[in-house]
Amino acid sequence: MTQSVLEVKSLSGGYGRMRVLHDISLTLSEGSSMLLLGANGAGKTTLLKSIIGLLPIEHGEINMFERRVDRLSAPRRVRLGVAFMSELGIFPSLSVHDNLRLGAHGASRRDIEERLEEAYASFPDLVNRKNALAGTLSGGQRKMVGISKCLMANPKVLLMDEPSAGLSPKYVDEVVEHLKVLRKSGITLLVAEQNVSFLAAADQACILEGGRINFSGSIDEFENNASLHEAFFGLEGTG
Ligand code: ATP
Repeated sequence: MTQSVLEVKSLSGGYGRMRVLHDISLTLSEGSSMLLLGANGAGKTTLLKSIIGLLPIEHGEINMFERRVDRLSAPRRVRLGVAFMSELGIFPSLSVHDNLRLGAHGASRRDIEERLEEAYASFPDLVNRKNALAGTLSGGQRKMVGISKCLMANPKVLLMDEPSAGLSPKYVDEVVEHLKVLRKSGITLLVAEQNVSFLAAADQACILEGGRINFSGSIDEFENNASLHEAFFGLEGTG
């Protein structure tokens, strides 16, 4: 049986007394890839921040690798093997290389060197920009640095908040392709997005509306659900 690497049970939470998330439950098994879809303000960022421990939860439970974590600090959750890529995710005033090294979180020198090599092999565009300040890169390149920086910690689970934010369609396609590669490598992905292009890199979809889950299922179930299809692709986009 595949191990559940992330389990959220009946989670409610938000910002102080302002409850944003209501009774959220989801489970990710090892190597799976879930797309968390929702419009602006649906609660995607709030959910990811609650999972990684940047926001306390009000009710419910979070388990990582079958261990209860909702009372653990964010750094302790990260040390269990879960990385969080926020929309920004990088330090603009540091070089690409330094951003990547910072992502390694105390790994051995040898591991750092190996992971740097992997990062530059995955994103050859970054090789010539190693010493450039991350803030001077294009949106797409910045996203590549953000993804690579997270991978430097060698996480088992990667939570990504709107990887398409600020990207032109060409770069969105590139990020989607890279997520497909990551998925094949066995990493578990939870990707919060408004952009349905990311369905191509997922095997499950979960739709958040007004802080509640209104659909959760496989990509086939999502695509075969006429009303969801209409809502996300419009009547003309069914081909
Ligand atoms: P977006 O795609 O626009 O980032 P989202 O689905 O990630 O949307 P959230 O950012 O999680 O949505 O916001 C959910 C709700 O929480 C919104 O009503 C928002 O106004 C509110 N909210 C977000 N951040 C805070 C905050 N720091 N304090 C209070 N309310 C907040």
